[in-house]
Parts: sequence; C-alpha cells; structure tokens
Amino acid sequence: MFDVIVIGAGPAGMMAAYAASNRGLKTAVFDKNEKVGKKLFLTGKGRCNITNVSSDFFSNIVRNPKFLLSCYNNFSNMDLIQLFNRNGLATKVERGGRVFPQSDKSSDVIKTLSKITQDVGVKLHLHSPIKHIEKKEGQFLIGTRDGEMACRSLVIATGGLSYPSTGSTGDAFRWAHEWGHSVIALRPALVPLVDKTGICQKMQGLTLKNIRFTLFQNNKEVYAEQGEMLFTHFGLSGPVVLSASSFIHYDQDISTLMGEIDLKPALTQEQLDARLLRDFDQNKNKQLKTYLPALMPAKLETLFFDVANIDPEIRIHEISREVRGRIVQTLKGMRIAISGTRPVAEAIITAGGINVKEINPKTMESKIVKNLYFAGEALDVSALTGGYNLQIAFSTGYAAGVAAG
Ligand SMILES: Cc1cc2nc3c(=O)[nH]c(=O)nc-3n(C[C@H](O)[C@H](O)[C@H](O)COP(=O)(O)OP(=O)(O)OC[C@H]3O[C@@H](n4cnc5c(N)ncnc54)[C@H](O)[C@@H]3O)c2cc1C
Repeated sequence: MFDVIVIGAGPAGMMAAYAASNRGLKTAVFDKNEKVGKKLFLTGKGRCNITNVSSDFFSNIVRNPKFLLSCYNNFSNMDLIQLFNRNGLATKVERGGRVFPQSDKSSDVIKTLSKITQDVGVKLHLHSPIKHIEKKEGQFLIGTRDGEMACRSLVIATGGLSYPSTGSTGDAFRWAHEWGHSVIALRPALVPLVDKTGICQKMQGLTLKNIRFTLFQNNKEVYAEQGEMLFTHFGLSGPVVLSASSFIHYDQDISTLMGEIDLKPALTQEQLDARLLRDFDQNKNKQLKTYLPALMPAKLETLFFDVANIDPEIRIHEISREVRGRIVQTLKGMRIAISGTRPVAEAIITAGGINVKEINPKTMESKIVKNLYFAGEALDVSALTGGYNLQIAFSTGYAAGVAAG
C-alpha cells in the first residue's frame, strides 16, 4: 500500500514523485522502460533544454497558457533551476533564454532527477508496464508486473503519443477516457512539414539561416518568424518550420497549406530591386545562373528557377523589368505547397490531450475522479521549442505531487 503511485518516470512523473515523497509520503514510480527518462535523454539533441528564462515565457505556450499560470507560479523556471543547482547540476543560459546543463549532457539531468527522488525515498520500479487501473473503496488498484499495488492517490504522467519508442504510447488518454474525461483531438506539433510536389528532395540537407518563414492556410497567414530552416527528403524542417506546425488549424483544409521563404528579410522589395539593378549593370553579359550564387546557396537554384519560371540560361542584359520583378518576388517569397505534416510519432510533442477544463489548475486533480491526478504532456497544454515543454512537465508534475500528498 502506497500513499502515492506515479505512472511514468519522465520529467513530469519524477517531479511529481519527488514532491509527494518530500512531504513524507510513501511514494512509488512505475515505468515500463528499463531506465528513467528515455525521452528526456533525447531532448535538446542530447543536451536537454531544461527550461527558459526569457521574460515572455507565456507567449510561447501555445495551448492553454492560462491553465498553467497557477502551477507555474508555484514551481517556476527559477524554482526548477535552483532545485537542480542545489543538487549538483550546474546550468547555463544560452540564446533566447534557453537553459541547459553546464555539461551539455541530458544524462546529467536524468541523474539529478534520479538522485533527488532517491534522496527523499521514492521507490522506483522499472520494467513495469501498468496495464490496468481500478478504483475500489477509495483506493486505486494498479496492475503491475508483480501483482496488484494499492494507493490512495494516483498520478498519471505517461506522456503523449510522440516518439513511442521512448515509452509514450498514449495510455493516459485511454484511462482518462474510461473515467469519463474528454480528450481533445491529438495532433502532431513541432513536427516537420511534407511538400506536395517532392521538389524539396532536391535540396535535401540544405540549411537556410536568417530567412523569414511564413505559413499560410486558406490564403491566411497562420505563422511568420525569422530564423533557421532545413530541407529534407520529404519537405521542410528546422526551428521555424517546427514552430509553424504548431499553428496549423486542423478544423480547416490542410491541403491549402503553403510555406513561403523570404530569403532577404532585411531588404524591402524596393531595396532588393535597387540592389539587383546595380548588380545587373555590372554583370550585363553573365547568364542569370552564373550570377545567382551571389544571392543564394547553389543548392537552392533548382527551386528558384522552378518557382520563378525563368530560363536559367537567360543573359542579364536580356532581363526585362517584368522578369526582374519576378526575381525580386521569388527571392522575397519562394512558395512551397505543403500536403501536411509528418506523423505524430515523429513529432517533438503531441498537441491536444486531456481536457484541462476537467482538471483543477492548482492541483492537477481530476474534477471527475477524486485523488486522481494528471501531469505533463498528457494534458492539453503545449508550447513552442525553447525548454517550455519540459517546464510544463516539471510544473504540472510538481503541482500534482504536492497535492497528491
Ligand atoms: C526529440 C525530442 C526532443 C525534445 N527536446 C526538448 C527540449 O530540449 N526541451 C523541451 O522543453 N522539450 C523537449 N521535448 C519535449 C519533451 O521531451 C516532452 O514534452 C516531455 O518529455 C514530456 O514529459 P512527460 O513526463 O509528460 O512524458 P514523457 O517524457 O513522455 O514520459 C512518460 C513516461 O511514461 C512511461 N509510460 C507510458 N505508459 C506507461 C505505462 N502504461 N506503464 C508504465 N510506464 C508508462 C513512459 O515509458 C515514459 O517514460 C523533446 C521531445 C522530443 C521527442
């Protein structure tokens, strides 16, 4: 018999277990994996972007920022950093307020989480998939590998649907549904985009820095940001593209998605036209294709000529005002039709999840089932890249652990 059982040894579950056990309660964590924090290990390309200390924290929370307010105030980015620092994990702040372990090793974050839970006496059960849960006479009965375990409070922190090989296979959604919770449609977010025509394959591996990427749906802008993007064998990826994917309206026609790349965001159309006029004057006898490397990476030329519909062999002195206009327009807005996203299994996070209207925002307790708590990515709260999603897991996990205790 435990006071608190936590299902899932990811960031949300480990933090919940720490917070509960720190209050002197008999607490156990069960995870199906052979080790703690399998997804956490992959985060930040193995460096783990733990949280973010920029002043506009909440503008990076895409879904249900208001729900997060209370638990974030009780366990904020600074509380998290202090807890890690106190337990031997030195941290550093990088561009955009992103916080990483000083060692650049996600394994050190996992070690620290394991240490803090061990120090307060949490019992960790690995290789322990939970198959079923029942509630009888005010207790939860949890079906574990070693038979049934009972607890007074149960925290479910089993993550979303992304990267299922890390253990997150959506069990929280099934259980929540069985207990009468509604689950908001599960969608891939922070996920690469697939191009309609396959043209991106030709630019595979090309990274564009300091471009402006705009995503349109139904001819309306849904996202625009300056930054870095990447061409892949199936389409587009990289920071600005991943962020853009979080703003797709799934209740509208996905086939109308259109990506637009502005290669010269620092120049207006007029400034760019004036620069071309000057350059063309000095390169009159060159073919356009031999001048183009001055404007863009060579690998991008295929896409440029395809979109602009201009003969690459044309000599610069033959370029009319109309063709020059098309060159400017293409440089300022190279359009790529998008057919959709890669599947949720390849998404950084799962958007949607357990409806937060049915969860107490201070405690993470279910408003339907007493003493049942949800935390982490299983909830319908999600954010952009930058350490925000881990902070969501830590803040909601902490709130659930404190309240469950
Ligand atoms: C490649 C990648 C990079 C990322 N990088 C970052 C980053 O740098 N910064 C950031 O803020 N976010 C990042 N994220 C997102 C972040 O990792 C997640 O939002 C976060 O891990 C969610 O935490 P969680 O505890 O809710 O769930 P998870 O980390 O998914 O943990 C859930 C745990 O529950 C266990 N479990 C599931 N079902 C059962 C069951 N039935 N029985 C027992 N155990 C079960 C799983 O095995 C798993 O260990 C990244 C995600 C990916 C995929």
